[in-house]
Amino acid sequence: MRIRVEACGVCHSDSATIERGTADDAQPRVPGHEVVGRIDALGEGVEGWQIGQRVGVGFLAGEDGSCPSCRQGDSVNCENPVITGMNTDGGYAEIMLAEARGLVRVPEELDAAEAAPLLCAGLTTFNALRNAGARAGDVVAIHGLGGLGHLAVQFASKMGFHTIAIARGADKAELAMQLGADRYIDAKAENAAEALRTLGGAKVVLGTAPTGEGMSEMVAGLAPRGKLVVVAVPGDPISVKAVDLVFGGRSIVGALTGTVADNEQTLSFAGMQNIRPLVETFALDQAQVAYDRMMRADVRFRAVLVMNHDKAGVNA
Ligand SMILES: [Zn+2]
Ligand SMILES: [Zn+2]
Repeated sequence: MRIRVEACGVCHSDSATIERGTADDAQPRVPGHEVVGRIDALGEGVEGWQIGQRVGVGFLAGEDGSCPSCRQGDSVNCENPVITGMNTDGGYAEIMLAEARGLVRVPEELDAAEAAPLLCAGLTTFNALRNAGARAGDVVAIHGLGGLGHLAVQFASKMGFHTIAIARGADKAELAMQLGADRYIDAKAENAAEALRTLGGAKVVLGTAPTGEGMSEMVAGLAPRGKLVVVAVPGDPISVKAVDLVFGGRSIVGALTGTVADNEQTLSFAGMQNIRPLVETFALDQAQVAYDRMMRADVRFRAVLVMNHDKAGVNA
């Protein structure tokens, strides 16, 4: 399928493509896996899609169908996945190609620049939260209030969890409450694990801040049978006292994105519940600026390239 791109989010995972540069023999790739656009031309034999239809392309856009994970129906953990912007060209472009099986239906009511980050950051947090085993009313803490965390707080709140936002600094309290948190814990000023324990402990802590040390501190704040669900990928290790795991049956697990069907549910839930990312938009020729600022964590909260930026009347 040929897609006329309207918007593409700039995600930290893009660094894997961009920093690879031309150092190895791999073909250079157009980065970008948070793509929203319209079908511009149908590939031969494609059925079920129309020209002009609004679609998205996320991180995982195909699987081999034959590896052990795929044979067990777990295509998210495919050993040979199609990854947009890594082994196929992505959405830092006006036009891109994608396989029909990797497309996500995007509701018309969602703004392209706001829908784009939902396809990766949104899907990751939505799926991790809904699959973590917590029930309505349970204490669920979101550790980190950046690109992933600010979406996770909204999802957790709308899923009916007793939602705790944890970040560093008093200045984030107001935003956390605006996003729907029931309580904000300033990890600079108080011991976050202790604060969670006074609430009975968290059934789930979602680790969205890229700090192994910070995630490690959360384990002692889990309720019995509680889970630390890791979605950020810090460079430093997570270290944990076995006693915190064994006595209370606590666990630490990772969660990776989701399928195209999960992605359609992410968009539909966000649409219904009025969940939106906070975005800063950039024109396509400002992609390097957007990328550099994202890497410096200098974007509130997701950077998005908008292809008809000037016509749209928005400012970078
Ligand atoms: Zn991403
Ligand atoms: Zn596979």
